[in-house]
Amino acid sequence: MKNTKYVFVTGGVTSSLGKGIIAASLAKLLQERGYSVTIQKLDPYINIDPGTLNPYEHGECYVTDDGAETDLDLGHYERFLNIPTSQANNVTTGRIYQSVINKERKGAFLGKTVQVIPHITDEIKHRVQILGETGNFDIVITEIGGTVGDIESLPYVESVRQLLWEKGEENAIVIHLTLVPYLAAAGELKTKPTQHSVKMLMQSGVSPDILVCRTEHEISDDIKRKLALFCNVKKEDVIQSIDADTIYDVPNLMFEEGLDQVVLNKLHLSSEKQPQLIEWNNFVQKHKNPTSEVEIGLIGKYVELHDSYKSITEAFIHAGSSNETKVNVRWIHSESLTPKNVEKKLQGLNGILVAPGFGDRGIEGKVKSVKYARENNIPFLGICLGMQMAVIEFSRNVIGLSDAFSTEMKKNCKNPVINLMESQENVTEKGGTMRLGAWDCKVLKDSKTYDAYKSEMISERHRHRYEFNNDYLAQIEEAGMKATGINPKTGLVEVVELPNHPWFIGVQYHPEYKSTVLNPHPLFVGFVKAALKQSKK
Ligand code: GLN
Repeated sequence: MKNTKYVFVTGGVTSSLGKGIIAASLAKLLQERGYSVTIQKLDPYINIDPGTLNPYEHGECYVTDDGAETDLDLGHYERFLNIPTSQANNVTTGRIYQSVINKERKGAFLGKTVQVIPHITDEIKHRVQILGETGNFDIVITEIGGTVGDIESLPYVESVRQLLWEKGEENAIVIHLTLVPYLAAAGELKTKPTQHSVKMLMQSGVSPDILVCRTEHEISDDIKRKLALFCNVKKEDVIQSIDADTIYDVPNLMFEEGLDQVVLNKLHLSSEKQPQLIEWNNFVQKHKNPTSEVEIGLIGKYVELHDSYKSITEAFIHAGSSNETKVNVRWIHSESLTPKNVEKKLQGLNGILVAPGFGDRGIEGKVKSVKYARENNIPFLGICLGMQMAVIEFSRNVIGLSDAFSTEMKKNCKNPVINLMESQENVTEKGGTMRLGAWDCKVLKDSKTYDAYKSEMISERHRHRYEFNNDYLAQIEEAGMKATGINPKTGLVEVVELPNHPWFIGVQYHPEYKSTVLNPHPLFVGFVKAALKQSKK
């Protein structure tokens, strides 16, 4: 059994400092040094999971193989580490309270008063240690969401305090991520906010072992010394995290600053083996030095917040690098598309991606985008709702079923080419009840999907309630749209294609969740390649 070591990452001063990227970058360096590492995120909100959240709240809802609906940071963890995460990697306050309350109802507390300390903190500590107890990991990095000082973060910080004490200083450490702002008028970097946030952490009984300081300008040795003095750390434990061109530079920047070295020293682990980052840097190199460019339209209804489509835009970066091509995304709000302007808004695109989504807002704009891609031979990728829109568009405009629709948008439509899955018919609760997680799919050999995957059996992640209505399969195939990927157990159509189009694929699953730096997703690679070909016409 491994003696798993724990690294906690807290945040101070403001949110959005990029704790997830720092955690993922550190994990990457440790992984390159031969350690098995995983990362966990603790989210202080009361939702059980982000599955019920509007993407405008915290961005995309990420889905794991085991069907957990999670925070988007888990996407970064997978993209950096190239290993899958699971439900255990994301815990929310809602989930913590739910399990404590369920235990209380079963009488598990034997008549005791149930309290935040010790019952909630015990549950948090249990969830933190679950991953370590699998025996699979040398190091578990736990990112605490939110900012130190938030009321809802308190039980988490208290749990960290207890774990640090129980495990001992060579087995558990805290990295505190803060901001060192630059005051242009004074021409100076300011340390006070960091001092205050460390003080706040210390009031809860936790002193950071390492400070990682986000900054727009180089932090001088003098400032590092000052931060060290006021925050009870050594100067070499003050790590600068300067703004980077891309998140994929951060592992190299953290290596140059010695973050992984300091962590290993503190945890009494060997740092003999150096990180190489060979494949990683090969990817970064190609990403930064593209030889061509394409423009791909992303048609969605949450485009005001780009984080709503995080995994899609990252998948474009991976696929772009492997094609040595810069992928420029044109963000197009599906609600803004009208029959009059669609031509103008989509003109010049080398590829069109119709995004996942729920509900009827902006639906007709998505249908129009599919039509434009189909009629103008523009490479097209439809994901989940985007695939459903491709089926609807084809049924309406090619077959002539003018009222073809999905029962999600029109309950009693006459031609429900997309309808509710049978398994969903009696589902009344919203949370965690969709068809979720990894499902097998058999790919037809004679298809562009097969050309991309080069495999007949694939496994992809799902998150939906509606599906292709097989009552229309024969009619749709007859008219020229082919079902080229089928779930071997249920017969559900997972992929549709137009063989007479340069590259037109709709997938019921979410390929974007499985794209990583070291394994760019084959469909995205194929899509960018097709867009590149289109751009040369
Ligand atoms: N709203 C559609 C469904 O539930 C599509 C979901 C999605 O795009 N993730 O089937």
